[in-house]
Amino acid sequence: MAIEANPRDVRGSLASRLTRGRIVLIVAALVFAALVVAGTLTPVQGLIALVIVAGAALINSADGSEAVAVNRARADALRSGDRVMDAVIGGLPDAVIIVDRQGLVVGFNPRAQMIASSITAGQPLSFGLRVPDLIDAIRRTVASGTSERVEFFERVPADRWSEAFVTPITLPGDAGRSRDLVMVTLHDLTPMRRVEEMRVDFVANASHELRTPLASLAGFIDTLQGSARDDAQARNRFLDIMKAQATRMARLIDDLLSLSRIELRAHLQPQTQLDLAAIVRHVADGLQMLARDRDVQINVSMPAKALTIRGDRDELIRVFENLIENALKYGAAGKRVDVTGREERGTDGTAEATIEVRDFGPGISPEHLPRLTERFYRVDVAESRAQGGTGLGLALVKHILNRHRARLSIDSTPGHGATFTARFPRVTADAV
Ligand code: ADP
Repeated sequence: MAIEANPRDVRGSLASRLTRGRIVLIVAALVFAALVVAGTLTPVQGLIALVIVAGAALINSADGSEAVAVNRARADALRSGDRVMDAVIGGLPDAVIIVDRQGLVVGFNPRAQMIASSITAGQPLSFGLRVPDLIDAIRRTVASGTSERVEFFERVPADRWSEAFVTPITLPGDAGRSRDLVMVTLHDLTPMRRVEEMRVDFVANASHELRTPLASLAGFIDTLQGSARDDAQARNRFLDIMKAQATRMARLIDDLLSLSRIELRAHLQPQTQLDLAAIVRHVADGLQMLARDRDVQINVSMPAKALTIRGDRDELIRVFENLIENALKYGAAGKRVDVTGREERGTDGTAEATIEVRDFGPGISPEHLPRLTERFYRVDVAESRAQGGTGLGLALVKHILNRHRARLSIDSTPGHGATFTARFPRVTADAV
């Protein structure tokens, strides 16, 4: 808030003004005394001239030097107050902006600058943060002296939800002078909102995925109890379909449970040393039946030496089952799946063990690639269901790899197949 000058301060005492104007008075007295002595002025004229000069000096002192001194003192007080304020808000974990009663920015901390990069001290807050709801809340707080909370959403530069607490504060200054200001504290609600949205989507997706086979089961039960009661042929056909639907539900529940178990242990990196190559060979062997069914050849190529990593055997089996099964299911048209293990160096020079699963099927369009590891995301829902998919396979792969501090990359050129590569930190002989 701008400080109003106190009239008593400005006027000051007569003594202090006389002191401040004393040089002018002394010089004037000497000049007029000399003129009286020289006979240019009569003593009365000299006295009158001195009184006029003294009056002018006193007025000047009151209007000029004293007012300047008072303002300087006030500015110093403000500056020292601002320094304390800057130090305090600079150490806060939240974004904080201080504005005056006119809405001009008085101070802000680095976190606030991260949110509103063009915010500038001395300028209206609305120049740096174009949020009308927030500006209105500041106005209301200035008027009422009560705190406000506002939530707002910004689309530019990226979707962001925030909440702001608008609180009136009084900043004490020196010599009992204080300033009424408004403190705006900003919280980023975006991560919370995203998690909320994901949770809602997840529950909706999971219940939808379960409801479909359940509805189909209920329909077949009705049919078997009604029109198909005595039709042995239809009964056998329906029972086969019911079994497939029940298996799908069981797989879905199994995948959901696995996902939540892995999420619970996401922060614990498995420590058992394993040979990744042996695990991949074991998985490929187990999938030979499916490969024959789909008329696909699996070619496994592993280095002669063990690919030692720290891991959880069952979880890793799950990863490579999912990746190779997907290649067999969705890339069957290519008739061939290559599974290759390598010892490599990461971009930062660290030892890595990589497993690449490559198929030669239709591949995946680039727009789907970033979303493939989301829960229930499928390129073609009908095809996934027809293949017995739950839409959770790659989400599981991603979570298991995260827990192993490993990374998944997906490359595909539509029409030329897809390559899924898992990169693990490798345990080298010298690190054992
Ligand atoms: P699903 O249970 O549907 O197989 P995943 O999470 O394993 O779920 O895979 C998600 C989707 O990614 C699949 O539905 C499929 O559309 C696509 N996909 C996965 N692997 C491949 C692949 N090798 N070739 C083409 N599409 C694939």
